[in-house]
Amino acid sequence: MSKTETHQFQAEIQQLLNIVIHSLYTDKEIFVRELISNAADACEKLRFKQSSGNGVFQSETAPLITITTDDQAGSITITDTGLGMTHGELVENLGTIAHSGTKAFLKQLAEEKKPDVGLIGQFGVGFYSAFMVAKKVTVLSRSFAPEESGWQWTSEGMGGYDLTPAADLPRGTKITLELKDDAKDFAQANTVERIIQRYSSFVPFPIELNGKRLNTVQAIWARNKNEIKEEEYNEFYTFVGHDHEKPLFRLHFSADAPLAIQALLFVPPRNFETLGMGRIDSEVNLYCRKVLIQAKAKGLFPEWLRFLKGVVDSEDLPLNISRETMQDTSLMQKLNKVLTSRFLKFLDEQSEKEAAAYEKFYAEYQRFLKEGVVTDFTHKEALGKLLRFESSTLDQGKLTSLADYVKRMPSEQKEIYCLLTPNRAAAEASPYYEVFRERKFEVLFLYDAWDEFVIEHLHAFEGKPIKLAEKAELDLNEPKKDGALSDEAAKALAGWIKQTLGDKVGEVRVSKRLVESPAVVVDADKFMTASMRRMMKAMKQDAAPEAPVTQDLEINPAHPLVTRLEAIRQKDSGLATSVAEQILDNARVAAGLLDDPRAMLTRLNHLLERVLAKES
Ligand code: ADP
Ligand code: MG
Repeated sequence: MSKTETHQFQAEIQQLLNIVIHSLYTDKEIFVRELISNAADACEKLRFKQSSGNGVFQSETAPLITITTDDQAGSITITDTGLGMTHGELVENLGTIAHSGTKAFLKQLAEEKKPDVGLIGQFGVGFYSAFMVAKKVTVLSRSFAPEESGWQWTSEGMGGYDLTPAADLPRGTKITLELKDDAKDFAQANTVERIIQRYSSFVPFPIELNGKRLNTVQAIWARNKNEIKEEEYNEFYTFVGHDHEKPLFRLHFSADAPLAIQALLFVPPRNFETLGMGRIDSEVNLYCRKVLIQAKAKGLFPEWLRFLKGVVDSEDLPLNISRETMQDTSLMQKLNKVLTSRFLKFLDEQSEKEAAAYEKFYAEYQRFLKEGVVTDFTHKEALGKLLRFESSTLDQGKLTSLADYVKRMPSEQKEIYCLLTPNRAAAEASPYYEVFRERKFEVLFLYDAWDEFVIEHLHAFEGKPIKLAEKAELDLNEPKKDGALSDEAAKALAGWIKQTLGDKVGEVRVSKRLVESPAVVVDADKFMTASMRRMMKAMKQDAAPEAPVTQDLEINPAHPLVTRLEAIRQKDSGLATSVAEQILDNARVAAGLLDDPRAMLTRLNHLLERVLAKES
């Protein structure tokens, strides 16, 4: 005669069950995750008992989690060979609250407009998620303790549960869910398989579904680095990255403070965004003790690290967060900051240790780093260290860091100089470059259209201001050349040119930085540069023509074209005017800013005619 005992649920459990049973949750499937997590916990605890010398019933039985589905009966059963539960433990664990979890969870549900059960497991009440899908739950359990016997626990959710002795049970726990009519899908093997693959792929004990082994990839992020083989890492990358190539970089680290984190991050070998695949999404999944909390977790990394793939596992995920608000929690921000700083440090180290790999990385991902400089104040400095540019003192194709540039700066040089240019040849022929070549100051050659914004945001590096060459206030720092105009004559000429060109030019000044070029244009707007104007022009192609921009003109008082102009301007003002106009247009051509060359060509042809007329 079996003696069935009938028990009441504790009031709070009853309240919780009310909500769980009667609310319509979209992610009901998480009950699979919760019951498997409990089964895995039970196996883990058994292992601990065994290793600490406890007598264990059926100690030769290996840890195993088995799931069977029965679509005829409309049921699903989860069985484990873990430590099982005694009569007392069944009462305590599945009927009362041993911890404050239920209260916290109820409070959370009450506060939310759209309650999210997804995190039920983190409140220590995961077991009850079974009642979202089951009309009846039967638990058969036999404790590991040799002197204990088996028990059956059954409940239909409301009211309470029954306990009955059960003979001949093996060690462990077997939970059968008789599914509600609207949850019969969970009796389908392929539905359940998909859920297990999603949430429980890394559970550290074998999971079998209807006899088929499911979780074959290990949660290697939780293992000691030194024990993991290269092939295991690559296999894992194939799994999380859905990529058959090898990753470019891999960072595996763990931290205890300020947060407990285990992370395994990969940089894919290719940047999928430039491959024309559109904007990519971060593929870093967030786990809590090897169980998936959020796939492609938003907010875990800044946007500009969206090329990363991998896993972050943190035990510190608090009890009071829900999926929707996860992004905003200060914990998420803390995680983000720690992870990002660590990853940037890693890149910096790689750039030293694995220079060739870093170069490849930079070629693929520089745009992301630059996006970071422009959008992310917190990590700007660390990002600045990672930038690389071609330089006037290095061979074409070789790149330098800003740190190395600063090391090479002569003591009289106070600023870092950059020249935005379409290519190396144009840079070396640029009038803006002349003064730097003369003074032997290194100039970084920037070829990427984004670089100007990047440099502007970076502003300075190691305390040294970063200046665009065309904005640099730099002298040749040498005595006046033979044949150069006197200061007064040069000033007078500048005044005359301004008068002659009128609105076509802003200010006209005597330059102290030109060697070979007769003149340069410099943007009158302190914050504008020629390349910026070019970019704006390119973006606004279809818009109505804007008011013409004026540039300042700087003239080289030692250039023969300038000295001769001064000599003839009194005698032949017609010719002088044409030459002055041509000098301005030539300077604009050099800066890439001449919109319409037709007027300039007509003038140039007239000038050539005059030259030839003189010769014949
Ligand atoms: P949590 O797992 O966070 O403690 P749950 O509501 O999921 O919360 O489970 C409550 C308790 O029930 C567990 O702590 C555990 O003691 C017990 N339990 C649940 N499932 C099992 C199982 N398969 N084997 C042994 N004990 C279990
Ligand atoms: Mg649990």
